[in-house]
Parts: sequence; C-alpha cells; structure tokens
Amino acid sequence: MIKITLPDGSVKAFESNITAMDVAKSISEGLARNVLSAKFNGAIIETETPLTQDGHLTLYTWDDKEGKKAFWHSTAHIMAQAIKEYYPDCKLTIGPAIETGFYYDVDFGNEKFTDADVPKIEKRVLEISRGKHEFHKRDVTKQEAFDAYKGNEYKTELIENLNEGEITFCSHDTFTDLCRGGHIPHTGSVKAFKIMSIAGAYWRGDEKNPQLTRVYGVSFPKQKMLTEYLEMLEEAKKRDHRKLGKELELFTFSQKVGQGLPLWLPKGAALRGRLEDFLKQAQKKAGYEMVMTPHIGQKELYVTSGHYAKYGADSFQPITTPREDEEFLLKPMNCPHHCEVYNHKPYSYKDLPKRFAEFGTVYRYEQSGELHGLTRVRGFTQDDAHIFCTQEQLDSEFKNVIDLVLYVFGSLGFENFTAQVSVRDLDNPDKYIGSVENWEKAEQAIINAAKDKGLDYVVVPGEAAFYGPKLDFMVNDALGRSWQLGTIQVDYNLPERFDLSYKGSDNELHRPVMIHRAPFGSMERFVAVLLEHTGGNFPLWLTPEQVIILPISEKYQDYAQKVAKQLNEADIRTIIDDRSEKTGRKIRDAEVSKIPFMLIVGEQEEGDGMVSVRKHGAGDLGMFKIEDFITKIHEEVESTLVSF
Ligand SMILES: [Zn+2]
Ligand SMILES: [Zn+2]
Repeated sequence: MIKITLPDGSVKAFESNITAMDVAKSISEGLARNVLSAKFNGAIIETETPLTQDGHLTLYTWDDKEGKKAFWHSTAHIMAQAIKEYYPDCKLTIGPAIETGFYYDVDFGNEKFTDADVPKIEKRVLEISRGKHEFHKRDVTKQEAFDAYKGNEYKTELIENLNEGEITFCSHDTFTDLCRGGHIPHTGSVKAFKIMSIAGAYWRGDEKNPQLTRVYGVSFPKQKMLTEYLEMLEEAKKRDHRKLGKELELFTFSQKVGQGLPLWLPKGAALRGRLEDFLKQAQKKAGYEMVMTPHIGQKELYVTSGHYAKYGADSFQPITTPREDEEFLLKPMNCPHHCEVYNHKPYSYKDLPKRFAEFGTVYRYEQSGELHGLTRVRGFTQDDAHIFCTQEQLDSEFKNVIDLVLYVFGSLGFENFTAQVSVRDLDNPDKYIGSVENWEKAEQAIINAAKDKGLDYVVVPGEAAFYGPKLDFMVNDALGRSWQLGTIQVDYNLPERFDLSYKGSDNELHRPVMIHRAPFGSMERFVAVLLEHTGGNFPLWLTPEQVIILPISEKYQDYAQKVAKQLNEADIRTIIDDRSEKTGRKIRDAEVSKIPFMLIVGEQEEGDGMVSVRKHGAGDLGMFKIEDFITKIHEEVESTLVSF
C-alpha cells in the first residue's frame, strides 16, 4: 500500500500502481470526468502514470492553470497531427502551451502555410478530437528516438541534448511526438479550437537559425468559451492601454530616448501625481516615512544584497567612471538602498517598526521583443516601501499592509481580486534560508492575516521566494482578465546580509524582519491595468479633466471663464472648449475624450447664474446652480474613495 496526501491534507491509502485518475474516481465520478492533469511530489505526471510510492498528489481541472496548460499542450499534439496529415514532408519542432493557448513551430520546407490553410486544419483538429483518443506516454531509447526522426534536424538536436533513460514519446490516434509529458487523458475534451495567427519564428529564438512557421492556436472544453474568449479579445483591443494612452495623451515612447523607457506626458504625469499623492496620504496615516535614494548604487551594494550574483549577467552592465575600479549599477530594486537607510543609526525595539517608503525608479533589462507598452518596460517606478519590524510585530504589520492594499483597490474600482499565499515547498527544505521556526511563524502570520481580512485566497506550496513567504494580489479586470498587482513579501535574507539590528528589551542585539510591499506594483503597470480595466473612464477623483465647459457661442466666453475660475478654485479640474465649433460637435468630442462632465453655457445659463450639465455616457442632467454643481462633484469624489 502507498499513502497519498491530497492538497487539503487528507491522507488515503491505495494499492501501489494506482493512477491519478483512479484517485480522482475514488473521490467522485464528476472529478474523474473533469481531471485534466496531475502533479505528484512536485512533478507534473500523466493521469495514467502508475504511482508506486508515498507522496503529495494534486489533481488539476480546467479551473487550474496547470489544467489549462495540459489541455493546450495536448491540443498542440492534435494540431501537429492534422498539419502532418496535410503536409507529410514538413518537419515538426516544438509545441508548448503559453499563457493563453499554445503554438507549434513547423518547418514547412518549400511549402507555405497561410491563412487559406487554416479552415481545413481547424476542421481536422475537431474531427480528431471527437475520436476520444487517449494520450499514452512511453519510454524510448535514444537510438529509437533518432531513428524515428531521421531527416528532422530539429528533433535530432533536441534528442542529442537528452540523456538516455529520460526520453519519452507520446502517442494518440495515429500520431506520435517526442515529448516529456503533461497531457490530458484523451482528445475528447477538446470541443472548440481556433488557429489564432501564423507568424515567423527562428529555431531556438536565434536569428542565425532557420526561420520556422509558428502556428498559434487556442482551444476550449466548450464552444461557448471560445465565443466568449473571442468577444473578450475584441473588447480588449478597444481598451488596449497603448491605444488609449495615445488617445488620452498620457504617455509616449521615443526611439531616440530608447525602447521601453516611457515618457509621461503632462496629463499622464498629473494623473500619476494624483495616484502618488493618494497613496502618500494613506501611507502617512499608516505611519510610513518617505525617503529618497539615488538611481544608481555601487556595484558592491548589489554584491552585498546578492542581487548581482543572481541578476547581474542578465541586467544592464555596470557604469564606469574616469576613476579606476569604480563601478555603479542602475538600481534594479530599492531594497538595498533602504537597508542602508535603516543602517544610518542604531535602533532599540521601542523604535520599531520603521516604515520607509519611496516612489523609487528602477531599471531592468528586458529583451526588446519582450517589451510591451507600460506593462513590460526597462525603467519603472515602484510604489515601494520596506518595513523593518520585530518578529512579534510581523502579524499586525502584515494586516496593516493588507488594509492599505484593500483601500487602494477599493478606491480605484477593482472589486474582484484574489490573493495567493506563496509558502515553502516542504519537500525541498534546502532551498530556503532562515530558521524553520521563523518560516513557520511568517507563513502563519500571512495566512492568519489573509483569513482575518476575509480575503479570497489560496495557499500555494513551493512558490515562496528563497528568502521568505509572500502574498500576491491578482485583480480581475472588467473583461475578466487576471493581472498581478500588489505584492507583500517577508524577508529574512537582506537583514542578515546588511547586518541590520536593533537592541531588544533584553539589551541584546536582534535582527529585524523586513517586509517589502508595493500596493500598485509599479506606477507604469498600474496605470496600464487601470486603463484597460476602465477603458479610460477613470474614477472622478483621478481623471485628468473632470469638467469641460462648452459655451454655445463666442458671446458666452466670459461667462465660461467665470465658471471655470470658480470650479478651479474649488479644486475641480476644468477646461473650456473655446473653439468656434457647433455645440453638437463639441459634445461629441468631449464624449470621445471621456471627460466626465460637460457644462453647456448660453444666454439662459448666464442670466440665471447656472450651468446645463451633461454626464459622460449618461446624457442630460438638467440645470444646476454653480454652487450646487460644485457640491455634487465634491460628493461624487468623496463617494468613490473608500474610507481608510
Ligand atoms: Zn506533449
Ligand atoms: Zn524590496
């Protein structure tokens, strides 16, 4: 008999050679129907793999990331079969699952694969799927593998890099592929499939290598899911932050300045400033102190922090000065600087916690192909802070940070979010630094805090950093897409490396614990997500212009000026459209620029000291006295900011 531990901690005994599918069946028929993939003792296995020893087993369905991954990767096999049937001479290379869907890189030789070929492949993939062919994985020798791929230099190269005894083939229906595994039980679950695009890609991403054809696909267990997915993509295109950022004049990029280095335009800079002020105010209430540190630091600083050993080679290279042996690095993170801020004087336990906050700009090298609008950039500003506290204070500090994150999300209209607690992999204790006792306390502190704050959270073993456990927030935007934003991380490593200490009540020196936290994540990424979430219709308190005044003719310019002055003095961001356009045109343009309120002023309004109000997307609200309109705006701003 072997003992199988499930994620809920329950332990069941089974005969040896049982499979993940058998375990699913022993739980429920429904689960057995839905199980797509499984993980056993940290490794992804096939649901038909016999289990011969005790261990931890996780079963995955479509609702899990791993389940989707197996689903999509398996569909790549089916698509490869269909392609091979139509193009017997093509050479298959690799076909991994990606974030959404999968691709297969194919060398079509002298033939071309174009959009015109898509329908027949799509049709054939669904035909094969309906056959409910099981996926079976088997071991092969290196020689067998070479023999099977004679004439395919790509697969031959892959096989050369594998060791004897670790080579496997995976078959379904009439098709076999070199593959290490991670498949769904059978093809029948694939009910919807679409080829999304065809692109060129170099073998192993190296432009010196031959160019292959990359066929991107996506598949789903229900036709309805594909329809919804395609609708979501349509909507996402309209909300693309790169498009909106341009239309709303928030930010730009310049080839001269450099790729991945955003330039914030006046409206964008003002908006970002408001976000920063908003967080600064909340942080002040929560007992943070602002610090400021330079954009570069001596190489030694990052050698001490360990960042150089870990990221040095993949990062921007050191900056040298006319002096010999002097090297600086663009700062890739603010933490080392903040450790030295802490180190400027000795502390007693009564001084703790210390909470140092900074909107710190950091620079990280990203390959040009990886850059994407404001979400993947080479220079960005973190809403960073580091809390230095005693182990006993960890619990309450963690809760305070969660409160702050919830306040931020609430005030910006993110209502759907989940949290992930990343803890140690208990099967691999050597991966982590710090005492087991402290880890247990820290993990428990995070889980308790998440529970107490009523968060919808999951605990994921093995996802912790080597230096401490963490809590990540994933927000779902209006289109149901999930984005990772805020993060809170416990760290036992840097206090050690920077020799941080405080004097305890016992008069001895102790190490503080460090918490890294960034509710927005980075200003760039947050603004991008906010743009895509709101479609550019920002909350009233944040939006670049709150009110636009539309005088119906030049005669009412003076009155418009007077109203604008009154509103601006009441801290309501107001502009005037003084073009000699027709009012209808001005209204349409104001709608496009997403300004929340339009005030139309003409003879009647001027005579009565009033304004006619139109709300963006809602239409006419009628006439208001100026004072009443000001009160209305102030009340609306108040109501969108949750209390803190
Ligand atoms: Zn495979
Ligand atoms: Zn940090």
